[in-house]
Formats: sequence, structure tokens, C-alpha cells
Amino acid sequence: MEKKNEINTAFFSVKNIEKSYGTGSAKVKVLDGVSTELYEGEICVILGPSGSGKSTFLNVAGGLESIDGGSITIDGQDISKMDPKSLGRYRRDKLGFVFQFYNLIPNLTVKENIEVCAYLSKNPLEIDELLHTLGLWEHKDKFPNQLSGGQQQRCAIGRALVKNPALLLCDELTGALDYKTAKEILALIEKINQTYHNTIIIVTHNEPIKNMAHRVLKLHDGRIVKDYVNETQLSAKDLEW
Ligand code: ADP
Ligand code: MG
Repeated sequence: MEKKNEINTAFFSVKNIEKSYGTGSAKVKVLDGVSTELYEGEICVILGPSGSGKSTFLNVAGGLESIDGGSITIDGQDISKMDPKSLGRYRRDKLGFVFQFYNLIPNLTVKENIEVCAYLSKNPLEIDELLHTLGLWEHKDKFPNQLSGGQQQRCAIGRALVKNPALLLCDELTGALDYKTAKEILALIEKINQTYHNTIIIVTHNEPIKNMAHRVLKLHDGRIVKDYVNETQLSAKDLEW
């Protein structure tokens, strides 16, 4: 019985999140009672029009921004109740972030960019193996300005991934890439999920998410308007707004 219960416990859970920006008459509610749960090892894709609250959701889910109400539980710990120091440590040890713009360190090679993140980690992945998984082995000694956009994003994913985060949060990671490269990056995310079993939340509005998500949430005006446990329920209309 206990084992069953363990399996059925959500790994990531947000309950009734409220978040506003501004004060007084300029106050804007950006997340309005958002609740969801993910199981360990799931890939969740978040869709929605520009301004619907996707980035805000990701930032509060990863403790980069505070919330006004509700709770955020990751692996049994409510990060919304942590003091800033513990939260900072938790973020460094357990969470990985990838953004649209790669934020690589320009004067370090691919391998060194990843190594500096490994040094900060208690339990880093083996770097040569990771470079192979990322498809960067033959580019490991190049500097960021010698790489294509897709290769730079692979390196940014490596930086987030090397500490083997329990939760990987990706915001528009394919936003700056052409369709074919975006497809390759999303296939890489799927491969990473199968190899390292990280739970992954990605915000993307690229169509090539088809067939990779265990879970799809659609946001509109700070609320979840669609929540598909199985993405085969997705219609072409869900990818338009
Ligand atoms: P999305 O990622 O879906 O485009 P965001 O989460 O970035 O949406 O933004 C949702 C809303 O919150 C937008 O109306 C945006 O202008 C507003 N917003 C986001 N960040 C801030 C901020 N730091 N200060 C004030 N308003 C913000
Ligand atoms: Mg955004």
C-alpha cells in the first residue's frame, strides 16, 4: 500500500497560485488561481498567447519570483515557505533553468561553460558523456561565437543539466531558432528526459512539441484553460491563439 501511495504522490505541485505585478490601480493579476501536479519524470509543455503568464509561472515555479498566495511543492518541499538563503541553495542544487537567450560565458569553451556549473554541484553528471548526449563532443573546445544558435542552446541546456536537476525549467528555449533546429532541440529534451529522468517543464509555442509531452497546459490570462494529461488530445486549434 505504501509503495502505491509513493508512486501516486506528485513530484511537483502548485496550488492556487496568485501573482500580481504593480500596486494600487496599476495592479495587474498575472496568475489567477493556478493549480496543477506533475509526476516525477514527466515532460510538461506550457502553451498560451504572449502575456498569458507563461514566463511568470515558470519563474515562480522555480523560486525566481515570489507569489502572493498559494503554494509550490517540489519533491515534498514547499519552496514558497523557504527563507531566501535556503531557497537560493535549493535552486542551485535542485533546479535547472534554460532561457531563450543562451547566456553562455563568451570567453570559455563549450566544455568549460559546462564545467563551471559542474563545480557548483554536489552530484554532477559525467561531463564527457553529457557532451556526447548533447551532440557537442566535436565542438567541446569551441567558444560560443564559433557555434550556431542550436549548438549554443545545446550548451546552455548542458549548463542547466550538468548538476542533474530534479526539475528542469525551460522558457522559450526554441524561440530564437528556426523550425528545423527547434525540432532538434525538442528531440534532445526528450532524449535527456529518457536518459536522466528529470522532470521537465517547457514553455514553447513551436508546433514540434507534438509527441513529446506527457502533459500539456494551456494558459490564458493567468488561468489554466486546458490541461491535457495525454497530448494526443491536443487539436490543431490548441496551437493557435
Ligand atoms: P508570457 O510569458 O506568457 O508572454 P509573462 O508571464 O511574461 O507572459 O507576462 C504576463 C503579464 O505580466 C504580462 O501582461 C506582462 O506585461 C506582465 N509582467 C511580466 N513581468 C512583469 C514585471 N516584472 N512587472 C510588471 N509586469 C510584468
Ligand atoms: Mg514569456
